[in-house]
Amino acid sequence: MLSREQQLQYLEAMGIQAWTVRRVDHGTGTEQEPLPPEDPMVAVPVANTTTPVVPVPDVFNGADVADLDWSALEARVSECRLCDLHTSRTQTVFGVGNHNADWLVIGEAPGHDEDQQGEPFVGRAGQLLNAMLQAVGLQRDQVYIANILKCRPPNNRDPKPEEVACCEPYLLRQIELIQPRLILAVGRIAAQNLLNTQTPIGKLRGEVHQFRDTGIQLIATYHPAYLLRSPLEKRKSWQDLQLALRTLREQDG
Ligand code: SF4
Repeated sequence: MLSREQQLQYLEAMGIQAWTVRRVDHGTGTEQEPLPPEDPMVAVPVANTTTPVVPVPDVFNGADVADLDWSALEARVSECRLCDLHTSRTQTVFGVGNHNADWLVIGEAPGHDEDQQGEPFVGRAGQLLNAMLQAVGLQRDQVYIANILKCRPPNNRDPKPEEVACCEPYLLRQIELIQPRLILAVGRIAAQNLLNTQTPIGKLRGEVHQFRDTGIQLIATYHPAYLLRSPLEKRKSWQDLQLALRTLREQDG
């Protein structure tokens, strides 16, 4: 576990000084000392958002990935034509990382860079995700990273429900193979689909959810691409990662 000082060094390296709030004396208008670091032992409410088991969509009943191991599953995905996205992809983006990871990071879908390179979370958003993980003492290859969709939607549009329905069994099989201790849902699309809700990401973050009936705890946070556009929100993502650490610590008893 990183010390607070080490974490701050990582954050500085990430350019995330915005995560340290500065106070302004409204009487004088002068800037005061930063607030003290948040107490990592502060209790956080656990959301009661357990959702019922979602049946496997009919469209997938014939696909049968339940018995596939990693290599067979990746081969199946690479050949998949279950939805129209196969016509516009450069390649599928299966996922990457540690097959026995405690942390499973799930994003939305491949973007341009991911489609070109065949790996999730590359490019600037990927670099920021790596830095966020480092801030909590994790190297990229210690976690597993996947997306809701394995193929890029044209022009990075939002995934369609039927595309998510077609692709979801692949992700569910990945989750089953990894058996992570924690899912970090990155961004609105990932969080809403995993939790089967339309609740805005701003209300989903900051709480501990359960991933359907698996017992796996899930924490939602903002997508790094959004954080690049809205750097002031980085502080909230830092809080979410702190919550994730506390959640794992509580699992350890
Ligand atoms: S997005 Fe998923 S379901 Fe659609 S073609 Fe790609 S791998 Fe298949």
